Amino acid sequence: MGVDVTVRVGHLYPAEMSLYGDRGNVLALIRRLQWRGMGVEVVPIEPGSLVDWDAIDLLFMGGGEDSHQVRIADDFLHRAEAIVPRLERGLPMLAICGAYQLLGQEYVTADGRTLSGAGFLDVRTEAGSHRRQIGNVVAEVGVIDITPKTLVGFENHGGRTFLGPRATPLASVGKGSGNNGTDCTEGAIRNHVIGTYLHGSLLPKNPQLADRFLEWTLAYKASGIRLEPLGDHWEYLAHTDVIARYGRLRGNR
Ligand code: GLN
Repeated sequence: MGVDVTVRVGHLYPAEMSLYGDRGNVLALIRRLQWRGMGVEVVPIEPGSLVDWDAIDLLFMGGGEDSHQVRIADDFLHRAEAIVPRLERGLPMLAICGAYQLLGQEYVTADGRTLSGAGFLDVRTEAGSHRRQIGNVVAEVGVIDITPKTLVGFENHGGRTFLGPRATPLASVGKGSGNNGTDCTEGAIRNHVIGTYLHGSLLPKNPQLADRFLEWTLAYKASGIRLEPLGDHWEYLAHTDVIARYGRLRGNR
């Protein structure tokens, strides 16, 4: 049965910023809307493309290597003038890894270039010459009321992110490195915006988080629509498989 609503997902820089299955997050959002009879349109946003920001209901931006971030950084900074006020008003956004870094104050690349960020999240990232942080992650969400509270994903980043006084961590890390490998935090959250190092893909393996994004989106659209639950048998098999393999390592790095 169709529901008379179409959700428009703005996908920032799909050509440059799409690592380690990040596109799967967009696919998960599309399918979860379609399974509930809703329409969905994906609006690809590349450097220089014209965007009607008032028509965007949800934003997604994936990860990218330093060289990719360098190519889109100026365009993103320019667009921040339109994006940030909407994030302040509740537009939901999921920003993974390189996108998370650029939503913060700044990112200093491995070769020492400073990329100014949108500054929406009070975080700062530096790549330095550390060993890259690579592997599966099991983390526990602190601030959002979702069940289960565990998030599973895969990280691969050279950047180490430190939270400023106005930042709230998304989760605490049980297995993996998260923001910086030292303070056990993972990601950051503000309003309906999540920055995280979890690729993997995040939303297919954490359907409770995918639905929270969709609830935020439907509320931002003032649609009055409530989400019907889905079975999510396979999604939770993928989720619990990672926990079974790595959850017992809680506290280890
Ligand atoms: N270039 C960034 C880093 O290595 C982001 C990598 C990514 O998005 N996976 O930290």
